[in-house]
Amino acid sequence: MPQPSKPVAAYKPKKGEAYMSPAQLEHFRSILGSLKTELSHEIDRTVHTMQDEATVFADPNDRASQESDMSLELRNRDRERKLIKNIDKMLVRIDEGDYGYCDKCGIEIGLSRLEARPTATLCIDCKTLEEIREKQMAR
Ligand SMILES: [Zn+2]
Repeated sequence: MPQPSKPVAAYKPKKGEAYMSPAQLEHFRSILGSLKTELSHEIDRTVHTMQDEATVFADPNDRASQESDMSLELRNRDRERKLIKNIDKMLVRIDEGDYGYCDKCGIEIGLSRLEARPTATLCIDCKTLEEIREKQMAR
């Protein structure tokens, strides 16, 4: 995941401060906001690169590698678009006061986990379980 160009310093809650206090919500809103800006720039850059590189190579080998570069770019862009959608969902959750709680079991996801993964919707336990299940399904 691309990091925001100016990383927002980790939030230090005051003693006795409630989880997801207005100040914490503001903090995560700004993290998500800068992440989204960064991703949009990334997508713009990709579009320009693809336009610049739209040269037709005479050598079939060059053409093939160009095509695989492009499909990689397209996949990256797809991933970035999905991330932006996720960020938008998170911003809605902040507005609705749902942010920071696990989708599955409803417990607090926790500040440090959200600091590392501001788009997390599962607590670490549910996420671990999900990953184990996915691995078993992939077999
Ligand atoms: Zn959970």
